[in-house]
Amino acid sequence: MNIQWYPGHMTKAKRAMKEDIKLIDLIIELVDARVPLSSRNPDIDDLGAGKARLVLLNKSDLADERCNNAWASYFEEKGCHVVKVNSKSGAGLKSINGVVLEACKEKIERDRRRGILNRPVRAMVVGIPNVGKSTFINSFAGKACAKTGNKPGVTKGNQWIRLNKSLELLDTPGILWPRFEDQQVGIRLALIGSINDEILNKEELAMELIRFLMSSYPQVLSERYDLSAEDPLEGLMQIARARACLARGGELDLNRASNLLIEDFRSGKLGRLTLETPQQS
Ligand code: GDP
Repeated sequence: MNIQWYPGHMTKAKRAMKEDIKLIDLIIELVDARVPLSSRNPDIDDLGAGKARLVLLNKSDLADERCNNAWASYFEEKGCHVVKVNSKSGAGLKSINGVVLEACKEKIERDRRRGILNRPVRAMVVGIPNVGKSTFINSFAGKACAKTGNKPGVTKGNQWIRLNKSLELLDTPGILWPRFEDQQVGIRLALIGSINDEILNKEELAMELIRFLMSSYPQVLSERYDLSAEDPLEGLMQIARARACLARGGELDLNRASNLLIEDFRSGKLGRLTLETPQQS
């Protein structure tokens, strides 16, 4: 499958992010817990050099809990702090404040030595499109937040959301561009719905998902679809039959069956599934 991508504003976005990063102490990077590597852009490691780092395994409610823990260790070994969250329900968000203070311990200590007390940590949320940045900011900041710098005369950008006395968040998230050099990365991003559906061949994508399930979570296919197929195409045909996806004339509507399967995956109806493990990276 050949997924094309035209990163039009990439250079400009990168330059803007570099400027924003100068203003902050901490980068809060959201990744999708189902694809923690494919959903991140490693450029952030260079862009954020010297800054404290917090990785949020977002949508952890949709991912395999054992894999969530393995990924948390993976990022911790790289020197990042990690919190598993579900930005939609708010689960996990409470522990973030404490982790932020721990992540920025050195900055706080440095400030203290210079006689600066209680200067809030300034943080910025970054991540690829659709990873949940706005959902996170809204639920984390909640209704209690007050925008600072939101006064007449304040020039564009750099609006800070004051979350509490020790943390301020840049109110616009930094959008990282997904990477596509690896075909498997493209397929995984497509499966979680991060790529415009129109440029995809749904049947090929569904067969990729079936192939993955056959090798990593075979019980999902047998339990939900009662599948016993030997290969992905046969599997897709069985799903089409089981879900009565029939075109006019009675032949199987594989496109509809593909959409149903992919939607079942994205919405969590297939259970909590993680598409990549740290061992594969
Ligand atoms: P952004 O493009 O990074 O700002 O992403 P959005 O905040 O618009 O979120 C994209 C989609 O993911 C929305 O449909 C959200 O409801 C959903 N979403 C965000 N966070 C979570 C989460 O932790 N769990 C689940 N299940 N869905 C989430």
